[in-house]
Amino acid sequence: MESAPIYFDDTEVAFSYKSDAELKKANLIFSIVNNPTTSSIATSLAKLSLALKLPVKGLIRSTVFKHFCGGETIDQSEKTVDTLFKFSVGTILDYSAEGEKNEAGFEKTDQEIINTIAKAKGNPAIPFSVFKTTGLAAFELLEKVHTREKLSPEEAGAWERVRQRVDRICKKGFECIVPVLIDAEDSWIQNPIDELAYEMMAKYNKERAIVFNTYQMYRADMLGNLKNALQEATKQNYFLGAKLVRGAYMEKEAARASKLGYPNPIHASKEATDDAFNEGLAFCMENRNRVSLVCGSHNQYSNQYLASLLEKYGLKHGDPHVWFAQLMGMSDNISFNLAKAGYNVVKYVPYGPVELVMPYLLRRAAENTSVAGQSSRELSLIRKELRRRRNGK
Ligand SMILES: Cc1cc2nc3c(=O)[nH]c(=O)nc-3n(C[C@H](O)[C@H](O)[C@H](O)COP(=O)(O)OP(=O)(O)OC[C@H]3O[C@@H](n4cnc5c(N)ncnc54)[C@H](O)[C@@H]3O)c2cc1C
Repeated sequence: MESAPIYFDDTEVAFSYKSDAELKKANLIFSIVNNPTTSSIATSLAKLSLALKLPVKGLIRSTVFKHFCGGETIDQSEKTVDTLFKFSVGTILDYSAEGEKNEAGFEKTDQEIINTIAKAKGNPAIPFSVFKTTGLAAFELLEKVHTREKLSPEEAGAWERVRQRVDRICKKGFECIVPVLIDAEDSWIQNPIDELAYEMMAKYNKERAIVFNTYQMYRADMLGNLKNALQEATKQNYFLGAKLVRGAYMEKEAARASKLGYPNPIHASKEATDDAFNEGLAFCMENRNRVSLVCGSHNQYSNQYLASLLEKYGLKHGDPHVWFAQLMGMSDNISFNLAKAGYNVVKYVPYGPVELVMPYLLRRAAENTSVAGQSSRELSLIRKELRRRRNGK
């Protein structure tokens, strides 16, 4: 690695946007989810209480929801947008309501994403928008299009409506000059998502990267896919928007591959995923004349490595084509220290009705549960800052 121009240990910078009371609440939340037993009890109770319609929404809203989300609506998320931007951290309004499963729900989600773009227009505090294709299309339909099976006339009609929804979003992004990130999902529905992304790039990325596809570098074929995507962009003369992530569905991918008896598409080791991710960053930076990059990662080394690549090429920290992205409520030490040093930083800020955002919150809880009994990275940082405030103020 080149010399690292940034370090992430400054918890004072990381948590300066949080009051003592908020930090103590974060400590409580991460202490509960860190312990496998309390985490399992808390998540089961939350699921059960919501299913039984017990009045727990208020409690969830004022604790875990408040830590990881902006609010239940775009307007309610404004305070978070303003707070982050005070520290030069941008927001990506991420409508995280999961479970819309019919045409009316897909249309509603489409309109909601368009509203986030309208909100972002001309607003430097909201530099990107985002959507998940499973919010706009039935999973089974995506699965079928992925396999290239012949669609029935009804399915063909439904698929055309999905294309129109995606087009409406990307067109709005193009008109408002708000880049649109398309999240990556399960490998067995990803082909249609990729194809839609490239169709939209060919249409809307002629002057600049408006549409960004996501590359899950834990997939063994992904570095090759990224290189092919650049070749195609060069051939068709458009800009490639690339968001690089490691990938969130490793266990699901392994389980399905084993059940259906095909090779697991995920790299055989964490090191192989890490190498592919970092190589992907280097590839995007080498080809920065045509690629705009969003590095979606909480990995300290990868963020440092990208900062060192900017240095290597003599680019400004705030080069407009290079963005560092993290999730709200996580890795604030990376986000806020990068932002303080002048790099472009954005956070996904999920929002939506509490009960529909629950699956997202449960994933965050699982991610922060320690199997080996040690404190999670987040918990250690929060405790370090609490100690610093107690002793140092
Ligand atoms: C802004 C942002 C946007 C995101 N968007 C998406 C998205 O669109 N789609 C999506 O799938 N995910 C998305 N993610 C989640 C992301 O894919 C990762 O799950 C998460 O960020 C953890 O990876 P990391 O780079 O932060 O670092 P680390 O914590 O260093 O890496 C953990 C990751 O490494 C990989 N890994 C772990 N163990 C192994 C192993 N044994 N073998 C192979 N690989 C392994 C897995 O991908 C795991 O998630 C996003 C994350 C962020 C911050």
